[in-house]
Amino acid sequence: MVNDSIRFSIVAPIYNEEGNIDELHRRIVEIMDQTHQTWELVAVNDGSRDRSLEKLQYLAQHDSRVKVVNFARNFGHQLAVTAGLQHTCGEAVIIIDADLQDPPELILEMIAKWNEGFQVVYAVRSERKGESWFKLFTAKLFYRVIYQITDVDIPLDTGDFRLMDRAVVDILNAMPEHNRFIRGMTSWIGYKQTGVYYVRDERKWGNTKYPLAKMVRFALDAIVGFSYFPLQIMIYVSFVLATIAVIAIPIISGLRLMMGERFFGGQATTIVLLLLLSSFQLFFLFVMGQYVARIFDEVRGRPLYIVASKIGFDTPKNTNQQ
Ligand code: UDP
Ligand code: MG
Repeated sequence: MVNDSIRFSIVAPIYNEEGNIDELHRRIVEIMDQTHQTWELVAVNDGSRDRSLEKLQYLAQHDSRVKVVNFARNFGHQLAVTAGLQHTCGEAVIIIDADLQDPPELILEMIAKWNEGFQVVYAVRSERKGESWFKLFTAKLFYRVIYQITDVDIPLDTGDFRLMDRAVVDILNAMPEHNRFIRGMTSWIGYKQTGVYYVRDERKWGNTKYPLAKMVRFALDAIVGFSYFPLQIMIYVSFVLATIAVIAIPIISGLRLMMGERFFGGQATTIVLLLLLSSFQLFFLFVMGQYVARIFDEVRGRPLYIVASKIGFDTPKNTNQQ
């Protein structure tokens, strides 16, 4: 590692956050100085189209604790966090959103828990401010569905705002999977984990970078990555359909024989049933496709992200990392 004496690393993914960067830096400095420990801020510029990179460059020039990993394009939040984690060297690492929805002040509480011996301290949102009912509803639903159907216990209402011990970060860094759902992967790793509660603030500046399409993709990564339930429900559906068929076929045939043309004269029933059954089949083909596509991602073995440049790191590491 570049500098072994750093105690805390903070990772912030940045996508079009020009209006938040200065305030984020200011609040992190204020909080981290209270720890009287060495720290670094690793900001990952995830292909921003605004002046985020310039702002980060400026910060890095004036504050040697700020380091910047600059992606070649937008690779998405989870990969930005991944790259950040892989570029840290602190004994504990804190992941924080750049929009100040995650209050930096909570970091002190997390550090206290870490000092008590917990390796993962995740932040649980007891309340979310300033978000649309749609976002609140889908988020609530998402966390509950994930909780029900995944094989690892992912704590409810937690995001990526968390502190992780170096041991956990090293394991995460060694997990090569492409479709990353970091909070699930952290739960899967285990160790002593605990939560601290907070009220999630409004975004300070700008709009959410998670439009519906990205949210759906994120949810699919979480579900497919941590659960076989969607593959397994096929068997229940096929049982139900088979049972209906077994009961209905003799009844319909019997009625038809007895009543002739008067019973279900046209083709309507056939068409309706055909539509219903093929929609089931297509849906489950989609489900299978989701798993197959992810298998393809893994066997193709492409790098997770491409780094275009780095600022503030002492010795340049390999530019492109897995
Ligand atoms: N983000 C990113 N790449 C993306 C989308 C988002 O690095 O493609 C960053 C964003 O800059 C922010 C964090 O991920 O720091 C969370 O995004 P956002 O606040 O938009 O999500 P929300 O809080 O609305 O769920
Ligand atoms: Mg946000």
